[in-house]
Amino acid sequence: MSTSSTWHVGCRVCDWRGAPGLYPHGCPICLERGEVQAVVVEPPRQPNPNPRTGTGRGIWNRWGNWLPAVPAEHRRSLGEGDSPLLRVDWLSEVTGCAEVYLKMEATNPTAAHKDRFHAVSTAVAASLGMRGVFSSSTGNHGLSMTAYARLHGLESVVISNPRMPALLQRAIRFAGGVPFMVDSEVGAAIAADLVATGEWLPASTLWPMPIGSPYGAEGYKTIAWEIAEELATPPAWILIPTAGADLLTGIWLGYEDLARMGTIEHLPRLCACQPAGAAPLVQTLRSGKTTIERLDHAYSIALSIADPITGQIAMDALAATDGDAVAVSDAEILAMGELLARHGLLVEPSSAASVASLSHLAERHPEMRDRPVVCIITSSALKWLDDYGAAAAGAGIPVDTLDDAWGVIDARS
Ligand SMILES: [Zn+2]
Repeated sequence: MSTSSTWHVGCRVCDWRGAPGLYPHGCPICLERGEVQAVVVEPPRQPNPNPRTGTGRGIWNRWGNWLPAVPAEHRRSLGEGDSPLLRVDWLSEVTGCAEVYLKMEATNPTAAHKDRFHAVSTAVAASLGMRGVFSSSTGNHGLSMTAYARLHGLESVVISNPRMPALLQRAIRFAGGVPFMVDSEVGAAIAADLVATGEWLPASTLWPMPIGSPYGAEGYKTIAWEIAEELATPPAWILIPTAGADLLTGIWLGYEDLARMGTIEHLPRLCACQPAGAAPLVQTLRSGKTTIERLDHAYSIALSIADPITGQIAMDALAATDGDAVAVSDAEILAMGELLARHGLLVEPSSAASVASLSHLAERHPEMRDRPVVCIITSSALKWLDDYGAAAAGAGIPVDTLDDAWGVIDARS
């Protein structure tokens, strides 16, 4: 494995600093003390004021000077980023918030925010001379990882959640990845073996504790930078679907970079949105504890965020941004997903969770009602129709005659 001296990773807890590498269990110094702490990429001391490295699209062109300094030949893009920030006025009546924006990440190449993550993470893997990348995934993560692995000519192994939709299993194989359908014990053994070779970069949490990917979080920073570019003042709150907390971490660190550069004065407050049946972070906050514990059981229709544990770094992100966390029921997620779909917005259940969280958050922080707020829409309903159950199970309507067709149309009004 080669190392680079042009950029570094470090630990925010113990001030350890090291070369880019795998770090599957987080900071090596903290680990010796029995603590699991995340590794993050160190921001450049004197960032180039111009983030652009090229005129084209894709996050390496748009933000390459602010991303990890991997060699130019590894800065490859599938056209990720530049997702629309939609103002959706009808949501004001529903949520009680005057100015609601949705950051529509389904416009990314594999229809998920994950493409920003893997655009950076896989570039780092290639620059380190890895043979492949691997992750545990419910679907979005594994498909995106596979696309970027193939872009770099690397192998992709996905340790699939048993509930991964068949559509996504097939898409991963179609794109040249290997989705293993295994129980958690075998999945953990595969991950441990791949890491032990030193030739496979983990693009996700390893058991037993979630340690986010320092490189993937760098890709997510670009969401913060795009929002900052588009809105004259930072939104009061950003609502983020949260499981392991990579996305939450990346958006937080992206705003920290902007604050360090003097571009913004205040960080937006961040809200982690979790389903009530899988809300380890919310439970930790409400109980007043400081360490996030693994739940014995986690279930939600919002499979993308139905994890039993959240990365400990989420506590730092919420503390640093004066943030909060909100849980919403599956019934609320389902109702919001259906409502959004009936307004032309096809979002996955975990994204419906962030919008459904708005009214709960506004009850806790009424002052936000008059300020701009952003919900992150991570992926499309098109991948996740099965999770919406009966609401999205309707098939095409057979009719034999013109009269029957008009009967169906007229019955709708
Ligand atoms: Zn440390």
